[in-house]
Amino acid sequence: MNKQERIIIIFLMMLCSLTDCNSLFAQENQNVFDKIVIDAGHGGNKPGAIGSKYKEKDVTLAVAIKLGKLINENLKGVKVYYTRVIDQDIDLYKRSTIANRINADLFLSIHCNSATNKSAGGTETYAMGLGKTESNLEVAKKENAEILTENNAIQNYEGFDLNSPESDILMSLYQNAYLNNSLDFAAKIQAQYQKNVPFKNRGVHQANFVVLWKAAMPAVLTEIGFISNPKEEEYIGSEYGQWVIASCIFRAICEYRNKTDNINDPIPSLEQLIPKDVQEKEQLRKDNEQLEKNLALASGSDTANQSDVQANNKSEEAVKMTQAKNDSIQNIQKSGSEVIYRIQFMSSPSKLSLNDGRFAGLEDIFAYQDNDTWKYTAGMFATQREALDYQKSVKEKYKDAFVVAFHEGKRITIVEAQRLQKK
Ligand SMILES: [Zn+2]
Repeated sequence: MNKQERIIIIFLMMLCSLTDCNSLFAQENQNVFDKIVIDAGHGGNKPGAIGSKYKEKDVTLAVAIKLGKLINENLKGVKVYYTRVIDQDIDLYKRSTIANRINADLFLSIHCNSATNKSAGGTETYAMGLGKTESNLEVAKKENAEILTENNAIQNYEGFDLNSPESDILMSLYQNAYLNNSLDFAAKIQAQYQKNVPFKNRGVHQANFVVLWKAAMPAVLTEIGFISNPKEEEYIGSEYGQWVIASCIFRAICEYRNKTDNINDPIPSLEQLIPKDVQEKEQLRKDNEQLEKNLALASGSDTANQSDVQANNKSEEAVKMTQAKNDSIQNIQKSGSEVIYRIQFMSSPSKLSLNDGRFAGLEDIFAYQDNDTWKYTAGMFATQREALDYQKSVKEKYKDAFVVAFHEGKRITIVEAQRLQKK
């Protein structure tokens, strides 16, 4: 068809979208919300955006699986369908075809953003529509670029052209019937991120994503953070970060379902949704981070005080330190009520012999039981600072070793230990 004809068709379709033709596409609303399709962006030989440690395709799959698990365990009556559950390449058009075939109530595509500016960051969620800003168009272009490497793209996407404004208009018409619900769901996701994810809220936008194009149901694409931003990459690549994001989306789904089904089911909190061991590990990580910060501050002031220590006093100094350490441990043992720091380096479902070869070269091995797991520590120190010094040598063998604290024989957090020692 020539350009004039194309313009006429676009005009007719726009007119149609403004009048009542939407009802032709509109879904019957007698159904309750009981089917959702979760689409982990990219996969297989299409990795999506690549960070310094993680790839988009792996992060999106990890979040998708966690989200599916949350729905299966907490939303009885809602069935989860995935477009992929392994590292697999799926053409973009097939992803919404799956959703249409099962007549899903909602389609959610999970992605990670990226930018050449490493400080760019934040979360944003898209519904279909004409991109209003250059940056929205850029995001859509990046995510759509995948069709360039697909087979039969001309047939499958009806000659869709990534760079043509006419293609853009035609695409945006498809999702019109579901636009309000899509925007509403997108806003609910962003509100959850805003409350719980430590990234900037970039808001809800519209742009034309091929993956949402023909979904015959409310459909959104959520960008969970910038994989090009080192801080955000660390977070979205971590178990804890992925659970927070999955929980946010889960809560948004609950809110959306409550609204569309006109019900008032209770919505679990993040504390209820994120697995306990993941929350504990995150607390430990935070404790250790705080500890390192405190120690960096303390050693900064010490270095200034010690600048006049003679170099030839070094060995004498080392002897003194060892003596001081022994004294402090004896004091701990005598009083039995002080805070003790140890370095945790290993856990095991069964109790190991203290002669186990894995303990070779480590001092003061100590084991304690935590639920069904035995945890092993080395060293015994009166101060965090000494513990952190020793941690360095344990880390040579066990790179994830970290400082833990005990009080009256019980494991406590580092923050509690600091509070007790201030008294
Ligand atoms: Zn993507």
